[in-house]
Amino acid sequence: MIDKEKLYGYCAELGLEMSESQLLAFDSFSEWLADWNTKINLTAITSPDDILVKHFIDSLAVLYAAPLKEGSCFIDVGTGGGFPGLPLLIARPDLHGVLLDSTLKKLLFVDRVINGLEMQKRARTLHMRAEEAGIKLQLRGHFDYSVSRAVANLRELSEYCLPLTKIGGAFVSLKGSKADEELEEAKGAIKLLGGEVSEIRRLRLPDGSERSIIVISKVAPTPPKYPRTRAKMLKEPLK
Ligand code: SAM
Repeated sequence: MIDKEKLYGYCAELGLEMSESQLLAFDSFSEWLADWNTKINLTAITSPDDILVKHFIDSLAVLYAAPLKEGSCFIDVGTGGGFPGLPLLIARPDLHGVLLDSTLKKLLFVDRVINGLEMQKRARTLHMRAEEAGIKLQLRGHFDYSVSRAVANLRELSEYCLPLTKIGGAFVSLKGSKADEELEEAKGAIKLLGGEVSEIRRLRLPDGSERSIIVISKVAPTPPKYPRTRAKMLKEPLK
């Protein structure tokens, strides 16, 4: 069981007020995560205190840097066990989200949480690679926001996420202590793909770890030849 008072307090520090039912939703999510993790490998983080800080609060840091606009829709690219997408959906009942991953078994867990918390009307999973999603007409440029944590370096991630993001929207990337290096390496790619860095918020999580939340506004269309295949991304990194 997670410590709901602690969760309430940490959320308040991020400027988020959680109701009793939202705290209970986080508690159920944490129980399901620990339970399913004994059967499939969802996370190395298993103690309730660690789940609270390293998964829930870390995911909610998105809202600290980018207060996603009311009623908007996001795509979580490489959601794994649902991070940061599920905490965002629990904390913000006005948001709609698509949780994308290339690993089906992880999405079965995400579906379990969506159903268990009755969020089916505003959340769904999508079993697909990000670079395939980015060339689909019905997904390309469709989302107000793309969000992602622990999936790839910022240069590749920009090629996954910016094509999916609407002009006027933003790609929000959760990064650790290497954020500046990654940003330097990704600068050319971000511009080429139609992005512009609009905010970098630094934050220390309650466990002392450093986070940088990079907000990249989508200011121009992504040229049609992007995203490329992952093999091509690795062979010819964007400059
Ligand atoms: N975002 C989650 C988190 O922070 O806990 C999961 C992180 S996990 C290390 C990376 C996830 O990204 C995996 O579930 C993997 O299947 C997914 N992934 C990696 N590359 C992907 C791609 N090109 N398209 C879709 N999913 C991808």
